[in-house]
Amino acid sequence: MYWQDLTYPEIEEKIKQDPIVILPIGSTEEHGHHLPLSSDSLQAIYVAEKIAEKSNGLILPPIYYGYTELDDFKGTISIGFNTLYNLVLDILNEITDDGVKKILIISGHASSLHMGAIRYASKKIVEEKDVKIMVLSDYDIAYELRAKLVPENDSHAGIIETSRILHIREDLVKKNWIFGEGSKKKYMITKGYREIYPYGTLSSPNGATKELGEKIDEYVIEKLWEIVKENFSL
Ligand SMILES: [Zn+2]
Repeated sequence: MYWQDLTYPEIEEKIKQDPIVILPIGSTEEHGHHLPLSSDSLQAIYVAEKIAEKSNGLILPPIYYGYTELDDFKGTISIGFNTLYNLVLDILNEITDDGVKKILIISGHASSLHMGAIRYASKKIVEEKDVKIMVLSDYDIAYELRAKLVPENDSHAGIIETSRILHIREDLVKKNWIFGEGSKKKYMITKGYREIYPYGTLSSPNGATKELGEKIDEYVIEKLWEIVKENFSL
């Protein structure tokens, strides 16, 4: 159930039931020649919808923007650390003022600075108010399958991500994959990434299937649901 689809009296009633309110955050970011710019958003929204069903929770309007360093690829729209921090802080302030006590933030985009902005904003709220906030990327869980279901180096637009998008929105996946693995020098700050990551993929998507995507999504949702139940004492 989406927050924005309800009326304000309905929200008022719903908040009295102390629901988990879920904020899906993605990005508008290049994902190679084969996946849409919305890939991170689609994955976060999918997981948010499944957890909302299980918990009878509410989903906030998804954020389709994040901070990404891949902004020298056409189509990527990155917002800055401060913009993301302020956006998340304002949303958290508003919903906690309304009485929301349990918040789950799921980000489909997992870069460290992006997650840092979300965690920093969440910490500010937890310091000031009597609320519980949980922040993770679904990739924190999905990457547990590296070296098990997929190669250890699987990464951006690789097998896990391609399989998941095949499962969630097959119609948006191009099947004639063109890819090349990235060669970023360790610890180096670079101006842009187009020369380092040919075709915008960090690892090969070869081996990706819809069935694998379904398996990965099930794993992520089951694992996350266990953690949510524990963290929010459900
Ligand atoms: Zn991604």
